[in-house]
Amino acid sequence: MTKIALFPGSFDPMTNGHLSTIKSACKLFDQVVIAVSTNSSKTTLFSAEEKMTLIETATKDLPNTKVIEHTGGLTVELARKINATSLIRGLRNTQDFEYEAAIAAMNKTQLPELDTVFFMADERYRFVSSSLIKEVAMFGGDVSHLVPEQINDAIIEKYKRDKIR
Ligand code: ADP
Repeated sequence: MTKIALFPGSFDPMTNGHLSTIKSACKLFDQVVIAVSTNSSKTTLFSAEEKMTLIETATKDLPNTKVIEHTGGLTVELARKINATSLIRGLRNTQDFEYEAAIAAMNKTQLPELDTVFFMADERYRFVSSSLIKEVAMFGGDVSHLVPEQINDAIIEKYKRDKIR
């Protein structure tokens, strides 16, 4: 049986922390499906299409990854649809733990056969979040060591363009 894992997230944008979790998951699963949420109630820096293209580029050397859109609805439903047996999530700190534990327990009530598999964040990126990256980059800070190269370029480009407007 092909072991498929679903890694859902906002990825606005994807960071080296996310990428490290994806690399670890790739060693355990036959296929890791990265689902980019396109929750319209949230204002995002990157559009769904931009986020997906950036992730595809950053994961091009990981052959057992695939990027899809998560347009809404329950994550467990998406997992069922793509025949995933596990959900992947990353844990940086106790705050993540509390939040993720509740979601994992709730998901278990909805689809008991789906397990959530947690990866401890890479020590180097434990403090990295997409929102902090954006905050620093918005004020001209250097985040090139915290995100994949093309994503760093895209962030710089985004804020440059916004300033011109
Ligand atoms: P969401 O809105 O679903 O939390 P995120 O893109 O913020 O979307 O995060 C997706 C997953 O990646 C979550 O499980 C989150 O805890 C994890 N994650 C976020 N940043 C890191 C990081 N630096 N290292 C490891 N995991 C991370």
